[in-house]
Amino acid sequence: MSNTPLLKVAGLGKSFGGNKAVDGIAFELAAGELLALIGPNGAGKSTTFNMVNGQLRADRGSIQLNGQELVGRKPRDIWHMGVGRTFQIAETFASLTVVENVQMALLSQAGKLFSMWRRAADFQRDEALHLLDQVGMRAQAERPCNVLAYGDVKRVELAIAMANSPKLLLMDEPTAGMAPKERNDLMALTKQLVVDRGMAVLFTEHSMDVVFAYADRMIVLARGRLIAEGKPLEIRDHPKVQEVYFGT
Ligand code: ADP
Ligand code: MG
Repeated sequence: MSNTPLLKVAGLGKSFGGNKAVDGIAFELAAGELLALIGPNGAGKSTTFNMVNGQLRADRGSIQLNGQELVGRKPRDIWHMGVGRTFQIAETFASLTVVENVQMALLSQAGKLFSMWRRAADFQRDEALHLLDQVGMRAQAERPCNVLAYGDVKRVELAIAMANSPKLLLMDEPTAGMAPKERNDLMALTKQLVVDRGMAVLFTEHSMDVVFAYADRMIVLARGRLIAEGKPLEIRDHPKVQEVYFGT
């Protein structure tokens, strides 16, 4: 691990009206790490994500990726700098096949115009198939996305997010709506990608079983403040976390 963390957040804050959604938080994330951001509803998790990916502009503080400031940059620039995020496959693309959806992501990464798509049916097909291999979806490459099982759609969404070869991948509630088995499969796959590619993942998750099984480290937010940070076992026994998060 190098001295400079991949991601360094310091004094980060964002208010909506008088509501301090994120109130001066600081944390770091190293390459190869899977960091869970947890906390009750309204704690500020999504607001934090959206400041890192540039959709929201921080009121104060800094977010550095490999020492470069992200605050004030456009989402697209931040994406090009290596911050990826998972998106739900849009309805309009659901009738395309699995491999076409990943090709679209590669096309967008290459900065090509959509108008090229028609004559670019072969565009980076091999790379798309390679990505699908990595998420265990190559065998279903030619099926339309709208006939897939829910857990398989999530795998394709992960392949799409990987098209940019992100250094940092943000996943806001990636397993929402999934059955326990699918959740575990998706997180095991994510962990594998982190190890294989040396990337970092910041994710939110409601299931404590999933967090304890897959996160290397976790940070806990409550009312916009960071109340605890540590390895899953340290967090589980943390009195403040028990009180605020588990409601005991
Ligand atoms: P979480 O993802 O942890 O559930 P959020 O980051 O979505 O929490 O929300 C944190 C706080 O900020 C909440 O009080 C929420 O109501 C408020 N909030 C979030 N987004 C907006 C917005 N776009 N406009 C106004 N208030 C917002
Ligand atoms: Mg949220």
